[in-house]
Amino acid sequence: MRVVRSLQAMQKISRQLRQRHQSIGFVPTMGALHEGHLSLVDRARRENRIVVVSIFVNPRQFGLREDLARYPRPFRKDLQLCEKKKVDFIFYPTLRQMYPEDFHTHVEVEDLSEVLCGKSRPGHFRGVATVVTKLFNIILPHRAYFGRKDAQQAVVIQRMVKDLNMAVSVKVMPTVREKDGLAMSSRNTHLKPQERKDAVVLSESLSLARKLITGGEKSAATIIDRMRNHIAKKPSAKTDYIAIVNGKTLEPVKKVCAGCLIALAVRIGKTRLIDNYIA
Ligand code: AMP
Repeated sequence: MRVVRSLQAMQKISRQLRQRHQSIGFVPTMGALHEGHLSLVDRARRENRIVVVSIFVNPRQFGLREDLARYPRPFRKDLQLCEKKKVDFIFYPTLRQMYPEDFHTHVEVEDLSEVLCGKSRPGHFRGVATVVTKLFNIILPHRAYFGRKDAQQAVVIQRMVKDLNMAVSVKVMPTVREKDGLAMSSRNTHLKPQERKDAVVLSESLSLARKLITGGEKSAATIIDRMRNHIAKKPSAKTDYIAIVNGKTLEPVKKVCAGCLIALAVRIGKTRLIDNYIA
């Protein structure tokens, strides 16, 4: 496994791999790797000759009052995990290389970026779309792997790739969960012991939705209400949003249908967590 810090070096390697017709599978991450990330790496390992994992905490997808400074950065542990998974290259660029002082260009996926998480995190998806475009241009992947956990991100990236005719196949993988149902996230390490227990309300409320839907409930408003009430039982939990939307357009629906996305964001103490389920 090789750690590549230079953007030019990485791009040169990718070009050479492509010239040799070696397929490149790419997993973009912000590090602090857990089983969720590693499931993407496993899939990339199975489907490609070469696996590249990027580790870059992208400041442009964090808002001014968000948790950029306290985002975990256990780089050594990440390296060991990648080594075990037989990753070929870790791309670990510096901030200055990614965003030199004269950086001026952004990628904006309109509408899809402004709803759900985009409402409470203005500029977040612009930051994501921009960094993913840059990473695609540097790593030149044949396939790129994303997690369903960040459902809106996956929709935004798929739209961007289609709209801008990027030659990458985007693969979206299922959410990996802790035993009690909590979706794995690098941010879970911020949770205090009681908060960690309370955090299970996200997946619990989605299970409740699923139960209501299998029981014949169709009204989005009713399901959202029931989920909201369930979450409100935990004193450390504050709902940011609960939404039931079309899985492609992210537009709200009144009646739940197959392929609908039920998504939520909840603050547990100071930590904002997200989760979702596709009906
Ligand atoms: P992050 O490092 O949080 O930017 O995540 C990097 C990639 O891992 C994204 O595509 C995420 O959607 C994905 N990911 C994060 N958590 C999980 C999880 N619990 N299950 C599956 N994929 C995940």
